[in-house]
Amino acid sequence: MAYDRNNIFARILRGEIPCKKVYEDAHVLAFHDIRPQTPVHVLVIPKGEYVSLDDFAAQASDAEIVAFTRAVGKIARDAGVADSGYRILANHGRDANQEVPHFHVHIFGGRSLGRMIGRE
Ligand code: 5GP
Repeated sequence: MAYDRNNIFARILRGEIPCKKVYEDAHVLAFHDIRPQTPVHVLVIPKGEYVSLDDFAAQASDAEIVAFTRAVGKIARDAGVADSGYRILANHGRDANQEVPHFHVHIFGGRSLGRMIGRE
């Protein structure tokens, strides 16, 4: 799947659409989800143009992958959920209902998160 430069997160990265930023470094941006599903619901995205985890895992540089992973841990810690617990989730493709075609990880926390996955 080709990267769509007009996807909503590409537009957030270009500053065309606002976001509630919680973290930024050379490779990573993180912001609150616009429709939070838990008290803590942060989206972490690479600044590079990757459609999903599949694309990121195959194409990103070691520096980008290290920065991304470290950022996810730090953001969760800074959000105060490292002790109580949190869940990270990355949707890839149709069966996962990926909505935005720019790789992102959700960080959910701030309450008990129940079952890992729906039964459907
Ligand atoms: P996906 O299903 O692709 O893993 O999740 C996309 C997420 O992006 C959803 O949780 C949705 O609420 C969030 N989202 C969609 N548009 C925007 C936006 O314009 N701003 C922010 N902050 N989040 C968005």
